[in-house]
Amino acid sequence: MANLGPAFEIGDVSVTKVEEQLLRTVPPSFLYPGLTSEEFAIAQATLAASDVEPPRDALILSVHTWVVKTPRHLILIDTASGNDKERPTNPLFHRQNLPYLEQLRQAGVSPEAVDFVFNTHLHVDHSGWNTRLSNGKWVPTFPNARYVFPMAERDYYSSPASHNEANLPSLGVYEDSVLPVVEAGLADFIGPEGGKYLDVFEFIPTPGHSIGHMSIALDSGGASAIFAGDVMHTVLQVARPEQNTVYCEFADEARKSRQKILSRAAATRALYLSTHFPGSSAGFVTSDAGGFTWRYA
Ligand SMILES: [Zn+2]
Repeated sequence: MANLGPAFEIGDVSVTKVEEQLLRTVPPSFLYPGLTSEEFAIAQATLAASDVEPPRDALILSVHTWVVKTPRHLILIDTASGNDKERPTNPLFHRQNLPYLEQLRQAGVSPEAVDFVFNTHLHVDHSGWNTRLSNGKWVPTFPNARYVFPMAERDYYSSPASHNEANLPSLGVYEDSVLPVVEAGLADFIGPEGGKYLDVFEFIPTPGHSIGHMSIALDSGGASAIFAGDVMHTVLQVARPEQNTVYCEFADEARKSRQKILSRAAATRALYLSTHFPGSSAGFVTSDAGGFTWRYA
């Protein structure tokens, strides 16, 4: 059960993390090209022991799914990176064989029981388990689910406009992890304005990391949470929100979206549910004259 996180209760909705894998040796100079080693040394003070690999010179990233159970629906938010995918331009996720579906079962989730799959965006580590390989064909892993994607992500990654250097890490993802779901008639799209969904959710446009990236707010019983997607990759960005990662495709927009979500999380005291922070991957943001501060839940 080591790969299951604690359950968080948001009103009458429960949220549990199912981890696909931990990336343990991410060099800060690679992830944050705009951060000097001196700045990183200072920023380390804002990190928890679970955020760094000893001797505190590499960052740890988690790749996981949030399992959300409302009184009426079973929902998965982001689907990690998947098995058997051909990712020659991204060796980290190339031809994997990971026990993700077993981990989901340990969390009480059978693929057939999933009602909705939300992808915050269509990058390699967020859409992979949308499909699985069956008799040489990519088929939807969750055959009874509606898959919900930002429309701008579908439009971009299905077009030649995305065939560029910035999208090399996610090359092939649309074709093997999104298109089969669309062709099966299981996809629904969220327009550029975002908006309410299933009573308790709200899709919030947070473009920048990717062209149509969206965060997803959850409000239930007077409590709030926010599935922020890749607005931030590590805790370091809470105190240094101007820092983009090497994976942020549209730099200025990414900074604006990070500020927007940090401000909203602090103002609403929402539980912030990250897609890449390790540890519990969840926590709270507070704000004062000195900037934003993070506390793990
Ligand atoms: Zn990601």
